[in-house]
Amino acid sequence: MKKNLREINISTEDIPTSWYNILPDLPTPLPPPKGDEQLKLLPEMMILECLKQESSPDRWIEIPDGIRQLYLQAGRPRPLFRALNLEKALGTPARLYYKSEFYSPTGSHKVNTALAQAYYAREQGCERLTTETGAGQWGTALAYATSIVGLKCTVFWVRAVYQWKHSRRNLMQIYGAEVNASPSDKTEVGKLLVKDNPDHPGSLAIAISEGLEDAKNDPKAVYSLGSVLNHVLIHQSIIGLETQLQFEMIDEYPDVMISCLGGGSNFGGFVIPFVGDVLTKGKKIQFIAAQSEAAPNLQGTYRYNFADYAKLTPQLKMYTLGHMFEMPPIRGDGLRYHGCAPIISLLRDEGYIDTVAYPVDEKYVFEKGKLFTQTEGFLPAPESAYSIACAIDEANKCKESGEEKVIAFNVSGHGFMDMVGFRKVLGLE
Ligand SMILES: *Cc1c(COP(=O)(O)O)cnc(C)c1O
Repeated sequence: MKKNLREINISTEDIPTSWYNILPDLPTPLPPPKGDEQLKLLPEMMILECLKQESSPDRWIEIPDGIRQLYLQAGRPRPLFRALNLEKALGTPARLYYKSEFYSPTGSHKVNTALAQAYYAREQGCERLTTETGAGQWGTALAYATSIVGLKCTVFWVRAVYQWKHSRRNLMQIYGAEVNASPSDKTEVGKLLVKDNPDHPGSLAIAISEGLEDAKNDPKAVYSLGSVLNHVLIHQSIIGLETQLQFEMIDEYPDVMISCLGGGSNFGGFVIPFVGDVLTKGKKIQFIAAQSEAAPNLQGTYRYNFADYAKLTPQLKMYTLGHMFEMPPIRGDGLRYHGCAPIISLLRDEGYIDTVAYPVDEKYVFEKGKLFTQTEGFLPAPESAYSIACAIDEANKCKESGEEKVIAFNVSGHGFMDMVGFRKVLGLE
């Protein structure tokens, strides 16, 4: 009976008090970052508490009360929904559940780590955070978080996206952030590139280089990264930890877990507490990362590679397409990154993570996003539509086989600021 609940939620008092760090539970130790010169510079450019968490051996990392308050203010906990209407439309015997990260003030799960990072940066006495953004969701999340805790924010935004996402740019500005199209003339790296081509479309790797350089040159500024790194996945584990409690409430447990994957933060945050169950409690779950053929980084090679274009970052052992890899533009722009989080890369190498990549024209994925909107009522972010498409594919497989699998997927954000993408891909007026 309880299993037919449409909305499952924990109370505000039951928000987890610690994040989960999978490092001590990994099947093999995580290969450390490489590069003496770059590693030496990190303490000058990064948030110290985040740097500490990056290699923490502790399984549980306490969430300071100040950050739990910020989570409450941002609307956590977020409900887990049963997709009864979508199940009916598909005629599947599978039970579908989705986590509602779209209920975020700025539209994505990225606020979960933005708030933590802004909080720690302020505690450390910083005045300004610098960052890069691709799709714009991370820049908006950090602009929001810095605004809430009272810091300044400078965003370097991949020019190709900066140019068409006007509303999102304005939202960052309303939060008080300084927003630059990247490559820009604010940094040495940027100047070199715009000199050759003033309309250089930019890339996430270039924008990261600019954010790092800006932070390096200002003692009151630190650089903040929205995905890929261990501490980001730790903060995002709040998604999966809440989901575990919600499944417990209805005595249900997932057989399949799905989310979209760019750098790996929403996928990691959603599944990693459950991967912990698989590694330490003998549970069995299939984990699937939904990607774009424009940047199928989990189908690249597992090796040491830089996280940015100018090689300012240490090298990380990860599944990568190469730090200078050129990717075709897509509307699900948050999925366009050359490498995948080292933790998820290791889990993939050990055989725990499956992946699918959808075609670059995005028609199939956006059609599934539309079906989800028509049945469940929530307009997903283009990236989240990949998660939905993959969940629908798995539900359809259950229809063929008659299996009553429990399929859980994460809807990482809403698409209210991505209407141009929907219009173009679906051919709307
Ligand atoms: C940034 C973003 C992604 C992709 O980044 P990950 O780090 O892989 O999660 C996916 N969905 C939304 C809504 C995003 O903003």
